[in-house]
Amino acid sequence: MTVHTDVLIVGASAAGLATAEALRRGGFDKRIMLLGAELHAPYDRPPLSKQVLSGAWSPDRTQLRSAEFIDSLALDIALGETAVALDAASRTVQTDRRAVTADHVVIATGAHPRRLPQQPELAGLHSFRSLADASALRGDLLEAGRLVVVGDGVLGAELAATACGMGVDVTVVGPQAGLMESQLGPVVARMLTEHHVAQGVRVRPDTQVVGFAEAGRRVTGVRSATGDTVPADVVVVAIGAVPATDWLSGSGLHVDDGVVCDQRCRAADGIHAAGDVARIRDATTGMSYRRENRTNATEQGIAVAADILGVSTPATPIPYVWSDQFGVKIQVDGSIPRDAEMSVLDGDPSAGRFVASFQRDGVVTGILGWNMPKQSRRHRGRIGSAMPDVDEGAA
Ligand SMILES: Cc1cc2nc3c(=O)[nH]c(=O)nc-3n(C[C@H](O)[C@H](O)[C@H](O)COP(=O)(O)OP(=O)(O)OC[C@H]3O[C@@H](n4cnc5c(N)ncnc54)[C@H](O)[C@@H]3O)c2cc1C
Repeated sequence: MTVHTDVLIVGASAAGLATAEALRRGGFDKRIMLLGAELHAPYDRPPLSKQVLSGAWSPDRTQLRSAEFIDSLALDIALGETAVALDAASRTVQTDRRAVTADHVVIATGAHPRRLPQQPELAGLHSFRSLADASALRGDLLEAGRLVVVGDGVLGAELAATACGMGVDVTVVGPQAGLMESQLGPVVARMLTEHHVAQGVRVRPDTQVVGFAEAGRRVTGVRSATGDTVPADVVVVAIGAVPATDWLSGSGLHVDDGVVCDQRCRAADGIHAAGDVARIRDATTGMSYRRENRTNATEQGIAVAADILGVSTPATPIPYVWSDQFGVKIQVDGSIPRDAEMSVLDGDPSAGRFVASFQRDGVVTGILGWNMPKQSRRHRGRIGSAMPDVDEGAA
């Protein structure tokens, strides 16, 4: 069976829904099909590792929009249907049940959890990306004494904080010197690690995981490159995500750790990509980036809609990431290179509230807020400018 639609959005989550909403807001009154592999109505992922895992929220609270609002968008929604192939030249998407042709195809398939090489299937060994993953891990943690988190990035740190708050004995194992070091730089990563340790999390830095201990197909520990085993009742692997582009092989699109697009999110004639799956190439510098954060998913969805509506301008948005751990709200606008110099602009790190700027070669590359969200936003305009006077704006 082949059906035709005006816009086909593949991926019914943050970026896909943002595209559909922005199209309707912009007056687009033709057919929009929103196709999603999961059975759930579009939901938000940031609360999964925080409120849903802890049990503070029921899974329903993660819904991105109410059923009434989604009805008002008049979309043709196909949930539980997976795209398995794309022919870019004819803009035909083959799903697991039919072929869909479209004037515009929007790829918003996000990312899958990265796995360790030869990662086995064992009871008690988890990945973490979806509502189903959150429910499964929560179920196991309610029974478990000891959790080992493999991965010291933002997701690993959040899972550790939430599980520790649930009364679980938590160890984080990862290759970096401190938690979230690649996002926060060494100084703030050390602060975050100390904060976790003070709350009772064990952190094993500079540690490569090479495998798992098991008994009767159930995980019992994590083996490190140094030869020792960290015992565990439950293990979660949080070592990043890979863009969900497997279904695009042979499509004719340029795929290179994401769907390669221009600054209007165009991947080919009539084909766009948005969100975690999109790799944007800056035509002037030749540099490319792929961002895995919630704000980017919405902004790119809106940018795609604008381009379909014919009102877009190329954009180079500033990356923005936030995280909540043990009651600390961390926000990073821009980026914090390893060798960046840090200047405190507001508050005081020893008081647990501050805003800092990070600069390299005298130019501000990032602004970090630690429990000062409003003040942190006020300083983001400094990114790209010369190193600020550190007294200016101090509280
Ligand atoms: C646990 C967790 C916590 C996070 N916390 C934060 C945070 O605190 N702050 C922050 O900025 N960001 C956070 N993020 C990142 C943020 O959630 C993502 O950047 C955002 O969800 C990306 O949206 P997306 O629509 O591009 O992709 P996704 O949300 O991954 O959605 C893609 C959708 O496409 C579907 N799909 C995939 N393949 C196919 C196919 N072949 N056919 C049909 N459908 C398909 C998937 O099932 C999925 O529903 C977090 C992510 C996770 C997983």
